[in-house]
Amino acid sequence: MSIDGQYDPENIFAKILRGEMPCVKVYEDEQVLAFMDIFPQAPGHVLVVPREPARNLLELTDGALQGAMLRVKRIAQAVKKALNPDGIVMTQFSGAPAGQTVFHVHFHIIPRKEGEALGAHGGGQADMAELQVQAEKIAAAIEMP
Ligand code: AMP
Repeated sequence: MSIDGQYDPENIFAKILRGEMPCVKVYEDEQVLAFMDIFPQAPGHVLVVPREPARNLLELTDGALQGAMLRVKRIAQAVKKALNPDGIVMTQFSGAPAGQTVFHVHFHIIPRKEGEALGAHGGGQADMAELQVQAEKIAAAIEMP
């Protein structure tokens, strides 16, 4: 599958953005929705999803990208404050060969602890109650300008 293609409005994140599918919400405003990854690579793995319908970063308008990156930073700061990780990985996969599996642009925020291995991308499903607790902690620490 190529990096190019048609945006599919029935992709899972589009459904979550429209409220047709549930998510464990961390933050939302007019530009993004952030929620817990249900197959986390580490505890506290958050996805930041721009509302603009774009398959990947290259297709996102400059304005939507700027808005999204500011929110990625603020939410990563909240993850740091809430979960006290030793490091944070922030990733964005554009195109299936790059590792993208959901074709609505999104950013991963993955807290890392010294000595703990990163889980598989799209590995085991998390406990929903644990995700809820993490989401509430992170949400309480978010400071937007
Ligand atoms: P990517 O491979 O960058 O497209 O990432 C897609 C991410 O979405 C993966 O990390 C999945 O674990 C995650 N994911 C897939 N379905 C859901 C869902 N319904 N709710 C939350 N996260 C999801």
